[in-house]
Amino acid sequence: MDCLFCKIATGAITVTRLYEDDLCLAFPDIHPQSPTHILIIPKQHITSLAHATPEDSALLGHLLATTATIAAQQNLAGGYRTVINTGDDGGQTVHHLHLHLLGGRAMHWPPG
Ligand code: 5GP
Ligand code: ZN
Repeated sequence: MDCLFCKIATGAITVTRLYEDDLCLAFPDIHPQSPTHILIIPKQHITSLAHATPEDSALLGHLLATTATIAAQQNLAGGYRTVINTGDDGGQTVHHLHLHLLGGRAMHWPPG
């Protein structure tokens, strides 16, 4: 499958692996939007949140819990933002489910 994040998950494309377990991988975003900007992906290809099924519920929970653990390790005591862009209107550009972990500056609301 010609998927950028699958290639990163398998190691075909090298990234700094900030966290890894059997189910997921975290690495820095190549175009950071904040001082800390980390992507958390499932190793299994899921195109987007809209493509997740009830059978993926445990994996989705694991991704969120892992994101909180990584945030704690990144000294984001002041808070942080987690984002999942889904589909064209959601601004998704890489079609492999991923969470953005953004921190290190105050965030604004509403988002653009
Ligand atoms: P999306 O817009 O799909 O929610 O987010 C995709 C993210 O992947 C973007 O923030 C973009 O900067 C990041 N990205 C795209 N290509 C690469 C890459 O080759 N390496 C890394 N580390 N991040 C990437
Ligand atoms: Zn993929």
